[in-house]
Amino acid sequence: MTNGDFITFEGVHKAFGQNVVLDDLSFSVGSGERVTLIGPSGSGKTTILRMLMTLTRPDRGTIKVNGDYLYHEQRGDKLVPASEAHIRKVRSRITMVFQHFNLFPNMKVLRNVTEAPIHVLGKSKDEAEARGKELLEMVGLSDKLDAHPSQLSGGQQQRVAIARALAVDPDVLLLDEVTSALDPEIAAEVLDVLRDIAKTTDVTMLLVTHAMKFARDVSHRVLMFNEGRIIEDGTPEQLFNEPEQDRTRTFLKSVL
Ligand code: ADP
Repeated sequence: MTNGDFITFEGVHKAFGQNVVLDDLSFSVGSGERVTLIGPSGSGKTTILRMLMTLTRPDRGTIKVNGDYLYHEQRGDKLVPASEAHIRKVRSRITMVFQHFNLFPNMKVLRNVTEAPIHVLGKSKDEAEARGKELLEMVGLSDKLDAHPSQLSGGQQQRVAIARALAVDPDVLLLDEVTSALDPEIAAEVLDVLRDIAKTTDVTMLLVTHAMKFARDVSHRVLMFNEGRIIEDGTPEQLFNEPEQDRTRTFLKSVL
């Protein structure tokens, strides 16, 4: 499962005005590890995912993915701010599924899934479509290839978003509250798809979710955040069954 430090945050700091969101944060995730970030709203979980997607930049500190700094480049012994081309290259191995799907509304389902493989990775249309159809079958949407997103339910749209995220064969898959906008029954279908993906791929996953049973099923590790710091780090069994911190215990009581 775990193979070294695949993702490393070191001394990462982020403030929005007076609001310190991440406070000198350091942690690592191994290759193939599936890590769930839990903690109260506003504790900085989504900010971490957004930093990996280069949607939010750290004020200080470094982030490394598979041996490359995301926001820096190494020149001899020195770390210098990275060029946009370097950032784009490292970032291209990371994909994210958002709470509100964010599909391309004007493109049919299959095209949503093939767009990045063709235009970012330079794959041929045939190759991208063959893989796209495979992924859409995996998420149970083979009969919707020619539908537009607006013709699909929320759960179906989210499954397209998952297929789209996997289509670029990412090293890292980030899942941000992917079932929060869905009814419980529909959410369960999406979580089943993600469980299958967790079982059948070795993609490194960082998840933010309030679906604790799901987190327990798929995660190797759970990190409890509070006020921009990690206050507890352990297996799902440790964290959910025998939390060490009172703050973790009260948080879990409020969500379970
Ligand atoms: P969580 O995912 O744990 O709920 P977030 O990472 O979304 O927390 O947010 C942490 C804090 O950062 C919140 O207080 C939020 O209001 C603030 N925040 C996030 N993004 C921005 C932004 N673009 N501008 C100002 N404040 C922000």
